[in-house]
Amino acid sequence: MGLIGNPVEHSISPQLHNNLCKHFDLNLAYLPFRVYSDDLFTVVEAFKALDVVGFNITIPHKVDIIKYLDNVSEEALIIGAVNTVRIKDKKLFGYNTDGQGFMRSLRDAGMDVKGLKVVILGAGGAARAVAVKLAQEGANSIVILNRSKEKARILTELVNNRVKEVAVFDEMTKDKLIGYTQDCNIIINTTSVGMWPEIDKSPIEMAEIFENRPFVCDLIYNPIKTKFLKNAEENSCKTLSGLGMLIYQGVSAFEIWNEINVPDNITKQMINKFVDFFKGNEGI
Ligand code: NAP
Repeated sequence: MGLIGNPVEHSISPQLHNNLCKHFDLNLAYLPFRVYSDDLFTVVEAFKALDVVGFNITIPHKVDIIKYLDNVSEEALIIGAVNTVRIKDKKLFGYNTDGQGFMRSLRDAGMDVKGLKVVILGAGGAARAVAVKLAQEGANSIVILNRSKEKARILTELVNNRVKEVAVFDEMTKDKLIGYTQDCNIIINTTSVGMWPEIDKSPIEMAEIFENRPFVCDLIYNPIKTKFLKNAEENSCKTLSGLGMLIYQGVSAFEIWNEINVPDNITKQMINKFVDFFKGNEGI
C-alpha cells in the first residue's frame, strides 16, 4: 500500500497503516512516494503491475487521478476528488474517505447531524467533502461562509443540486457570522487559518458566535488545539480537533483495501498514539 503526492514527507499515513498491519498481522507495508504530475500515469500502471493493494492520493493528484480509474464512487464523483484507490483484478476503484472520516470522528464525540443546523467556515477541498457528507447524512441546514463568496456559491450549488437542497452561502464577515450562528448547532472550521506555523491566527475571533454553545470543530490537526478551538472552549463550547478525521479517513481506506472492519477501540488507540506524537512534534 502507499501514498502518492508531492510533498509526502510529512505524512503520518505510513505510521498509521503500518501500525494497523501489525495489529491485524497482515503481511503488508505502506510507503510514501513523491510523485510528480508528469509521472502519475506511469506510477499508476506500475502499481497495477506490482499488485499493490491500494493507495492514497494527496495534493496535487486528487483530481487528476480520476481519469485513470475504472470506477469512482458516487461520493467521490460529487466531491470531484479521490483520496483512496483500491486495486482489484488489475482494475482501479476510487473513493473519497474524507467525509466519512469526519463523520466517524463526529459520531465518536456523540454527535448525530440529523436535523441539525451546521455553519461551515471555508469552501475548499476539505469543505467539499464535509458539506457533501453532512447533506447525505441528514443535516437540516448547512451555511457555507467563505472569504471568496464565489467559491461558497459553487459549493452550495453542488450540495443542493447533487445531494439535497439544504445549503445556503455567504461571505465570511463578522455581521454574517453573528447572524448565522445564533441558532446553529455545529460550527466547523475548514479553512487553513490557524494551521502550524501560524498558530496565533484564527478564522474568526468573536465570542458572540459561541453564545449559544454550539459544538465547535476544526479540521486542522496541527496543532491539535487551534486558537479557534481554544476560544470556543473558553466560551464553554465542546470541541473536536481534526485529528480524529485524519485517522478515521485513513482507517476507512484501510478497511476498503483489506475488507475488514477496524473496531472503534483500535482506532481510538491510534488517535491517542498520534495525540502524543503531535504534542511531541508540534510543527512536523
Ligand atoms: P484548500 O482547498 O486550499 O481551501 C482552503 C480554505 O481556507 C478556502 O476556503 C480558503 O478561502 C480558506 N482560507 C485560506 N486562507 C484564508 C484566510 N487568510 N482567511 C480566510 N480564509 C482563508 O485547503 P483544504 O484542502 O480544504 O484544507 C483546509 C484545511 O483542512 C487545512 O488546514 C488542512 O490541513 C485541513 N484538512 C484536514 C483534514 C483532516 O483529515 N483532518 C483533511 C483535509 C484537510 P478562499 O476560498 O477564499 O481562498
